[in-house]
Amino acid sequence: MSSLAVLHASELVTLSGSKRPRFGAELSEVGIVRDGGMLVRGGKIEKVGPSDEIEKNLGDAEIVDARGRVVMPGFVDAHTHLVFAGNRLGDFERRARGETYEQIAKAGGGICSTVEKTRAASEADLLAQAKTHANWFLRCGTTTVEAKSGYGLTVEDELKILRVLRQLKEEVRLEIVSTFLGAHAVPKKLSPDEYLDIVITEMLPRVTEEKLAEFCDVFCERGYFDIDQAHKILSAAKKLGLNLRGHVDQLTNSGGAKLMAEIGATTADHLEQTDGQGIAALKKAKVQPVLLPGSVYALGSSRYPRAREMIEAGLGVVLATDFNPGSSPTPSMPMVLSLACTQMKLAPAEAITASTLNAAYSLNRGDKIGSLEPGKLANFAIFDCEDYRELAYWFGIPQTHSVYIKGERIL
Ligand SMILES: [Zn+2]
Repeated sequence: MSSLAVLHASELVTLSGSKRPRFGAELSEVGIVRDGGMLVRGGKIEKVGPSDEIEKNLGDAEIVDARGRVVMPGFVDAHTHLVFAGNRLGDFERRARGETYEQIAKAGGGICSTVEKTRAASEADLLAQAKTHANWFLRCGTTTVEAKSGYGLTVEDELKILRVLRQLKEEVRLEIVSTFLGAHAVPKKLSPDEYLDIVITEMLPRVTEEKLAEFCDVFCERGYFDIDQAHKILSAAKKLGLNLRGHVDQLTNSGGAKLMAEIGATTADHLEQTDGQGIAALKKAKVQPVLLPGSVYALGSSRYPRAREMIEAGLGVVLATDFNPGSSPTPSMPMVLSLACTQMKLAPAEAITASTLNAAYSLNRGDKIGSLEPGKLANFAIFDCEDYRELAYWFGIPQTHSVYIKGERIL
């Protein structure tokens, strides 16, 4: 068993201590060990503490000198659309010239344009592009991502995307959690109800039969799927044993947060328009909010979710990139930290907890990743800064020094 000793980190940010997501004031507890060290054996963390203690029993461990650097759990990005073909540069430019997301979609841009390109792409082409994306995540210090389908919108094309994700897991070291998002948009020529029927009676059974996803997601929004339709999809998925996530209350407050609470979802994502009642419903049902400030920023909007109210209400807040070609073309969790602190008034420590430990719990992996504690996987990143707050403070400059997954350096 190969072993590794990380020594003399200016700050070892452990996030240690809680066996559940952190709520309220706990979000600020990131468990810093100064001049910190960590012993890794067989891909798992064996010991964490001050460097002089770790140094006592090194055995044959390979030494990683982290002097002058921050060592943290790798980021866990709990909301991405990692597999798609092409990009949306045309939409980007139209938006820059003043058109809205909905206007651009009506004019042939938006999700549907990515759907056309993704349908036309072979599995090999999609895989090649997905590998590029996976490498971007690693370069930002992310070691686990959730990744959704949703740019196929036919049985075969949705399955194709999920199979690409399965293949990607074999070929890259980034850890990937798959989500079925067949109900991402209504394909041309079908009514929402006609398409809904295909999602429920054809796609979902195939997805679960082939064990292609752990979660089912839906885009519940005006012009996409309404509350009743979203409810139908999610309850069908639940019956088949999938856990639930949902894109809700992004552009309009349609009661999506309440739906996610009623149906027992794991997460409710976006929530830009969610009000106090929605927040109370999430709290009661212990649904974790996944906030995506990158998409608010990239759409040129200023309506960020009410993150402070959510923290004060005691929700296990999560931050994610929403990486996708249309509304949030960033794989960078440090960029999201910057937005969370400057636009949603999270403290840097709160943002770090939301993008590591809390995110891990939102993917049902809180017992394995998200903190640096004995028994957990040695998935961590080393950053070229001495104080963890610098990750949120300096923006637009990469600070990743190196990235380890299961104790192996991969970047
Ligand atoms: Zn999304």
